[in-house]
Amino acid sequence: KELTAYYQPKVLLSSGDIVGWEALVRWQKPSGTMVYPNDFIPLAEESGLVAPMSMQVLEHSLTVIKKMINDGYSDISVSVNLSARQMEYGDIVKDIQSAIDRFNVQPGALKLEVTETALMKDLDKSLTKLKALRDIGIEISMDDFGTGFSSLDYLISLPISILKIDKSFIQIMSTNERAKAIVESVIGLSQKIGVQVVSEGIETPQEMEFLRDLKCDYGQGYYFSRPVPAEIAIEMVRNQSCEV
Ligand code: C2E
Ligand code: MG
Ligand code: MG
Repeated sequence: KELTAYYQPKVLLSSGDIVGWEALVRWQKPSGTMVYPNDFIPLAEESGLVAPMSMQVLEHSLTVIKKMINDGYSDISVSVNLSARQMEYGDIVKDIQSAIDRFNVQPGALKLEVTETALMKDLDKSLTKLKALRDIGIEISMDDFGTGFSSLDYLISLPISILKIDKSFIQIMSTNERAKAIVESVIGLSQKIGVQVVSEGIETPQEMEFLRDLKCDYGQGYYFSRPVPAEIAIEMVRNQSCEV
């Protein structure tokens, strides 16, 4: 019972409105120490605990999004990260369908984020599962795009409707011309193929303005808000502001 999720807003860059949230798992020890996912997810993957952990995060997210929807924000959604293990083993489609039925939320209120690494173990199996999830009405984002193998073929063969540009590009684009050109190109590519694009890791007003001028759809990052506990996220939606 020491696991919880924090929530980071996803902002529509053209208006500054909060349109969604990403759930990020946190391990809060009774001593108050916070353990971050990069320090325990690899172990959870290895031990097989990552699937029940991610389902716990998903259920937490559904309670949170339900509160926001009940507050009258019907268009808001929450994104949950999926692990490699969940793509490989178990029946994630059935588990997710049963969770959205149990919590009585529209499938559109939930989005899923996958990385290429998570898909690569067994691409055929991943494809079948992602298509089934898409058919239920759940949108799939490709997380950390630009890192890993970044096979452009995935953009053709997988039912991806959102690309998330990895924060490593956003963080150096103001000083690195190539990184800047890559960001511009990925935004252009997304527009051409009709997928929405999210920039991760926006930390400065300059980065936000640059991305907004390029017509990047959405942004996330410390510039808007760090990941926050559920109660604060709910408060932020009520105030329609990243300030609380
Ligand atoms: P991710 O899905 O790419 O999440 C983005 C990470 O970037 C988060 O780290 C977030 O706190 C951090 N971040 C957001 N804005 C900024 C910024 O402006 N600057 C910087 N430097 N960092 C920023 P976090 O929470 O430590 O999560 C790390 C990774 O762990 C996630 O990367 C995701 O792959 C994985 N993860 C997190 N929660 C879950 C979960 O519930 N299930 C699974 N399977 N994986 C998870
Ligand atoms: Mg993510
Ligand atoms: Mg990412």
